[in-house]
Amino acid sequence: MRLTTLLVLLFICCSAFAQEPAKSELARCGTPPGISPWLRDYSSRPQDFAVDRSSDTLYVGLQVHLLAKDNGVGRFAPARLLDAFCRLNADFAPARVWFYFKNDWNEIDSTAWYQHPDIVQGIEMMLANNVPGALNTYFAANVAGNCGYNLPYAGVAMAHNCSGPNDHVWAHEVGHALSLQHTFLGWDGKVYNAQNPTPDTLTYDYTYFHDTLDTQIPAPLDTALVEYVDGSNCTVAADLFCDTKPDYLSYGWDCDGQGYSLVQQKDPAGAVFYSDGTLFMSYANDACQNRFSDEQIAALRANLLTEKSGWLAAGPPQGDIIETPELLSPTDGQLVPADGTVLEWSAVPNATKYIVQVSRFSNFFVKEIETVTTGTSLATGPMINNLTYYWRVRPFNDWFACTNLTPSASFKTADLSSAIQPGTEEWRCYPTLLAPGQPLFLEIPGHRFNQLTRCTVYDAAGRAMWVNEDFPDAATIQIDLPSVSWPAGIYRIVLVQEKGVNSLPVLLIR
Ligand SMILES: [Zn+2]
Repeated sequence: MRLTTLLVLLFICCSAFAQEPAKSELARCGTPPGISPWLRDYSSRPQDFAVDRSSDTLYVGLQVHLLAKDNGVGRFAPARLLDAFCRLNADFAPARVWFYFKNDWNEIDSTAWYQHPDIVQGIEMMLANNVPGALNTYFAANVAGNCGYNLPYAGVAMAHNCSGPNDHVWAHEVGHALSLQHTFLGWDGKVYNAQNPTPDTLTYDYTYFHDTLDTQIPAPLDTALVEYVDGSNCTVAADLFCDTKPDYLSYGWDCDGQGYSLVQQKDPAGAVFYSDGTLFMSYANDACQNRFSDEQIAALRANLLTEKSGWLAAGPPQGDIIETPELLSPTDGQLVPADGTVLEWSAVPNATKYIVQVSRFSNFFVKEIETVTTGTSLATGPMINNLTYYWRVRPFNDWFACTNLTPSASFKTADLSSAIQPGTEEWRCYPTLLAPGQPLFLEIPGHRFNQLTRCTVYDAAGRAMWVNEDFPDAATIQIDLPSVSWPAGIYRIVLVQEKGVNSLPVLLIR
């Protein structure tokens, strides 16, 4: 029996992730290389751009698309999206750029797009689904074999497994979307070799950089100047920025303690240098990266204020969320009806949405429920009888998601709708036909009510309508239910004590 359960769990686990390539299996970035006409113009006269809003925070609207297979399985989990969103905003904070969810997340069920093998399908996906007036980002299991890519005329695609809380791939791709190029532009698809002389120029294929598919055949080539260490050609070579030093490494690489490459390179004049891995627009590993350069920041802000001004919002943003919600009901360890209960938690300032997770596992390895709601309650629907479930929530709003899940609480399901429970005959409840507002009397012959831990009244849908945990030391008690506003129907009085649970029906009539 246990082995069967384990096999089922293994199947659930591994089938859920089987078609999601690991980060180590993916290419770093599939963004086609190319200098846009806008960047060419900007870099020739940067002082002319957008000086009047140089100190403003720029608020950028995001449209997030969450892909799943045709059957709806495999979608990026809300909590993972919030972690990625929080990281994106942290990475852009020094640039005074703040992203927000302009619209609800768009859920798309398409296996072909969920794991698309090449960029042509990504173009199709974006052109079919893009929402105007926002930066469109698509989260899928496999985006043409890359961690991510940006199509300058369409949007950003991100692989789930490169969108973790410590990954900078989204920042890198959004950098592309805001006109930035790789620090090693020109070396795309080439492997630098110190044994060979370094050329002055490199050609690269910019298929897909321009819109529409008519640039595919033949593959067009463009030319990049190779950047010198002495800065003599920095305004026209590689990425066109002078404060991003030469970098010829177009594959994922690791850095030393200062963030520099372990690989020594030589420029065309023979000057020796190491690449700067702190830059998001390099291919250094995520742990090395932590910044855009000042010139990159000036360029991406100018791009937002001119070419991409349609993505900007005036604000003001919704505020930060500091407080943690309190899990109110069920209380920790409470018995609830297996046919459904309502989870309730406290509202916290500035939160407009909550992620709710319910799991049979205290580590939430597999989640029965993971959803987003705008209120502070959620009906669970039917659950398995006689099981312990765990639940927790995470507050956020469309501007701020750097929040944590609450500590989890548990509840246990029981078949509270069954008319006959062990020991029921010991209890009496009258009248069983109750008029609205009429008091109800409970009697436990030979027992005292102060031995009870809880009395709860549930409606037919399993919602807790009334709860009391404080009883007098008596064998008969009167309870005054707030039943005036309750609809007519069957309600259940559930009595919990250490020995077990008992349930009695009451019919409310009008
Ligand atoms: Zn890139």
